Amino acid sequence: MAGGDGLLSHDLLPGEKGPQDACGVFGVWAPGEEVAKLSYFGLYALQHRGQESAGIATSDGDKILIYKDMGLVSQVFNENALNSLPGHIAVGHTRYSTTGASSWQNAQPTLGSTASGTVALGHNGNLTNTAELMQLVHERYPQHDGELSRGNTTDTAVVTALLTGDLDHTLESTALEVLPKLRGAFCLVFMDEHTLYAARDPQGVRPLVLGRLERGWVVASETAALDIVGASFVREVEPGELIAIDENGLRSQRFATEKRAGCVFEYVYLARPDTTIAGRGVYEARVEMGRQLAREHEAEADLVIPTPESGTPAAIGYAQASGIPFGQGLVKNSYVGRTFIQPSQTIRQRGIKLKLNPLKEVIKGKRLVVVDDSIVRGNTQRALVSMLREAGAAEVHVRISSPPITWPCFYGIDFASRAELIATGLGVEEVRQSIGADSLGYLSEDGMIDATEQPRERLCTACFTGKYPIELPDAHHLGKNLLERPVVAPTDDGSDVTSDGCEPGPDAEFEPLLSYGDPGRQE
Ligand code: 5GP
Ligand code: MG
Repeated sequence: MAGGDGLLSHDLLPGEKGPQDACGVFGVWAPGEEVAKLSYFGLYALQHRGQESAGIATSDGDKILIYKDMGLVSQVFNENALNSLPGHIAVGHTRYSTTGASSWQNAQPTLGSTASGTVALGHNGNLTNTAELMQLVHERYPQHDGELSRGNTTDTAVVTALLTGDLDHTLESTALEVLPKLRGAFCLVFMDEHTLYAARDPQGVRPLVLGRLERGWVVASETAALDIVGASFVREVEPGELIAIDENGLRSQRFATEKRAGCVFEYVYLARPDTTIAGRGVYEARVEMGRQLAREHEAEADLVIPTPESGTPAAIGYAQASGIPFGQGLVKNSYVGRTFIQPSQTIRQRGIKLKLNPLKEVIKGKRLVVVDDSIVRGNTQRALVSMLREAGAAEVHVRISSPPITWPCFYGIDFASRAELIATGLGVEEVRQSIGADSLGYLSEDGMIDATEQPRERLCTACFTGKYPIELPDAHHLGKNLLERPVVAPTDDGSDVTSDGCEPGPDAEFEPLLSYGDPGRQE
């Protein structure tokens, strides 16, 4: 089963489904604190990064306990569940699937047993050499009977198997041997009974930060999670760094040289506005993107309105730089997102209204600038433009605070395949026609990068440019359901043959990826 069509949760608007976010990870080492509760609130702050499942594992120095389930953090945990997780070390995870279906088996933290104990691990990001690593598991540990044999089909389970399979070495030395073999994006938080670990890929694609509590340490995907648990920001976990924290304090080791390529889309959309990444506040970056957007694409209009919530900072910036008043023209139901109730056909036809409803008195007769952070499939803006016209808007000028998204992400965002990205096949004028706007302007690549205040060569811009900073394997070895296809057995000549003797069969999720390397598009 392809992920995202999870049996347990239904997207309210299946046809309108946007891309999916990266996951959230959280770890804490704090004797004397209720670490399960700290993790709960840490994950609560990171809920926007993944809403499919949530889990927390704790250790009291003696044993590890874990609690995880499908759903939002607040749906998964209650007071009793948290009270049943004692200890002074914890790791937690909120998931959005990028490799492996959205299912209970694939929820994190994952568990594995070593010679000396247990490992619990949470992962944000997406590996690009999962197939190769799976091969390594088969070679090294043919008898392996961990998460993978229990039906876990994620890249995270493969890493867990590699971390736990070596019975002759400590977890820390195994980690130092295994981490350099991983390719792609990974922020890992993991622990055994005694030690909390955090590791980040050499590119630092996804954010990961270290914080200090009065009586301990915290690691989290975003600084906003530190704020919420009362931890002070210490520094980032460096790209290529493994951190270990136990009663002897904090140890830092390098497993690879830093080659920084932080995800620019974290600044555009993914991260919370109250997070700081590589020294740049995300809110300020988004406001600046909006200001620059106004300079690049002026409009004659009466009112600037955001597409809430993600378009709000850029709309504020657009209004500032253009001098056009800012107003709220749409009301968002903040609780829309994932529901466990399948919407009826009638409700589904109401489409975007479930999420956004126009303020007719504000909109009527006005020439509007509508600002959003990104266009992926184009569904949001198409629905919005027609809704605003219905509500009486005189003109609708759409302004987008990032360039056209034309390439899939293999590093932790489940972006649509190339075929589904509206800007892959269409130029700006054609996209404008498709969404029905009076005018359309996208922020330039330079404008976006400048707003992040990061040097261009330290960012990953692959979804906009097709320039992938981490080498990709051939398309056969990529794809969300890589570990869910018929078993691929290696042959003597090294080619892949499935158990029924065929080439790995293309399937709906997989086929469109074949075009990612289309050389005609590689500028
Ligand atoms: P579209 O409707 O064009 O397919 O998607 C664009 C909308 O999705 C925008 O409103 C944008 O804020 C939102 N969006 C962009 N990236 C992501 C993402 O990674 N996850 C989710 N859930 N929404 C996203
Ligand atoms: Mg949005």
